[in-house]
Amino acid sequence: MAITLPIYLDYASTTPVDEEVLSAMLPYFTHHYGNAASRIHAFGWMAEEAVEIAREAIASLIHCTKEELIFTSGATESINLALRGITEPFSSNKNHIISFATEHKAVLDTLYELEKKGYDITLLPVDSNGQIDLTMLHDAIRDETLLISCMYANNETGIIHPIQQIGAIAKEKNIYFFCDATQAVGKIPVDVASEHIDIMAFSSHKIYGPKGIGALYIRRKNPRVTLTPQITGGGQERNIRSGTMNVPGIVGFGKAASLCMEQMDEESKRLTALRDLLENACKDSMKICIHGSNTTRLPNISNICLKEYRGSGLIPDLCNKIAVSSGSACNSGNLNGSHVLKAMGIDKDDMKKTVRISLGRMTTEDDLNRAIEHIRSIIN
Ligand SMILES: *Cc1c(COP(=O)(O)O)cnc(C)c1O
Repeated sequence: MAITLPIYLDYASTTPVDEEVLSAMLPYFTHHYGNAASRIHAFGWMAEEAVEIAREAIASLIHCTKEELIFTSGATESINLALRGITEPFSSNKNHIISFATEHKAVLDTLYELEKKGYDITLLPVDSNGQIDLTMLHDAIRDETLLISCMYANNETGIIHPIQQIGAIAKEKNIYFFCDATQAVGKIPVDVASEHIDIMAFSSHKIYGPKGIGALYIRRKNPRVTLTPQITGGGQERNIRSGTMNVPGIVGFGKAASLCMEQMDEESKRLTALRDLLENACKDSMKICIHGSNTTRLPNISNICLKEYRGSGLIPDLCNKIAVSSGSACNSGNLNGSHVLKAMGIDKDDMKKTVRISLGRMTTEDDLNRAIEHIRSIIN
């Protein structure tokens, strides 16, 4: 018997590869398979040219120059390169980093590692809307502060942080500003120039590109940022990230970035309308609470507490028919619940009744109507 797949509503975990992205990638597996670093023959030139076209497309999506972009294996590697690379060599008069309790685990766990090496880490709290307090940030800054690390938008709640203001504070105080923009890039306008972001990590598989490829933006001017490489070898990517380039992955990432740029305005309106439909339909028929709804959010993520749920496992109950998540995909097996919701002061009982529903390019109104029906059926 064929298994009927649930409706996919977990786009914040990962996205399918767009058909156009796949078509763009295919020739780079079988025909144009050259090594982009082989600059002495046509195979190498074709690969290199394709990489540079993709780099240009991704650079224009975030408003940087293509010399400011380094390819990595994904956002997790980019985050590690940024945080470890900026803190080496250790300097005792710049040994303080400020970040926030609701960051992704890739940031938090890397910061814990840096703490073991002698860095002083301040993790600032967020309020019940998941928002940071800029006055608190201002007050946390010391002479020794090297870096502020704040995500653009939260992967569990979709809450968008005041990046422009954080950038301005960092610039005024001469502190580096690192941003994990994995959920924001491709979904809402991101501009590293006007937002004063110095280093920024993001990933292809969250924007309908392939898995295993990501990027790190590293500012070249005002200030010029220098990172210590974490992977050494052949000297690719201007010596910052060695290793043979993933040409098909990069080509796919580039195509995915172009499609996002073309579709962003319309798609964000469409998804906002669908998300509102979902939230309003739930509100009309049951008692719910939407975490972070009093603040600016991404168009595609809804973090909903189904207050009337009385069953023993909300996520398994939902996942028969709709593929959703309890928080971030990485935390699905975590019994302590979401660190993000905890930081927002959500109690344990409500946490168990909370689901992250994230929509995307292939989501239709019909999908959502069926999802709403299923949610209603497990509540009643
Ligand atoms: C998905 C995600 C990551 C990790 O990205 P990978 O490319 O899967 O390593 C990091 N930060 C945020 C906010 C994410 O959503």
